[in-house]
Amino acid sequence: MIQTSNRDIHTAGYRRTINAGDYWLYRVMEGQTLRITDLEGNQAADTLFFNADDTAERYSVTDTLRSQRNVFLSTGSVLRSNEERPMLEIVADTCGRHDTLGGACATESNTVRYDLEKRHMHACRDSWMLAVAEHPEFNLTRRDITHNINFFMNVPVTKDGGLTFADGISAPGKYVEMVAKMNVLVLISNCPQLNNPCNGYNPTPIEVAIW
Ligand SMILES: [Zn+2]
Repeated sequence: MIQTSNRDIHTAGYRRTINAGDYWLYRVMEGQTLRITDLEGNQAADTLFFNADDTAERYSVTDTLRSQRNVFLSTGSVLRSNEERPMLEIVADTCGRHDTLGGACATESNTVRYDLEKRHMHACRDSWMLAVAEHPEFNLTRRDITHNINFFMNVPVTKDGGLTFADGISAPGKYVEMVAKMNVLVLISNCPQLNNPCNGYNPTPIEVAIW
């Protein structure tokens, strides 16, 4: 559901632009609001959430979808953990749909989906692994890289239950905003994918803002 926010971006306490191919790892405290903006349109922000106080608790696709009885995320969606607790709630969304079924791109999936020679191409999983390696203070390991959300990505579900990639429905300046219901550690890979139409074959920057 499309819902605009009444927050003025200029009043945000923190703002950062994340280029395609880069990661962002940051603690968002309970009660704070996180906005992710698709600056140039048709981008995918591959995002993992952890309980910042105990990273064994993390975002769960199954708990989230079962609880909301809907496979897409938008305004009103409560993002739940593997302990079924609310982690964040989406309170504004000008894109209208976000995928959480397709998973993140990896060099392995690139070879299966596209071509063997795509294996060397940078993928979201690489960015997450780099974040984990460069930030030992958060005690994450590659085993913590599990369910994720692809903000702004359009992955329609077909009538027989399959998944397809489709042209992005996002556009320049579209954003999604969520309130943290616990202290959360946010790990975003701004997707460098060059092989599918969801980002128009053109990875572009996103912006994160926190109130
Ligand atoms: Zn990706």
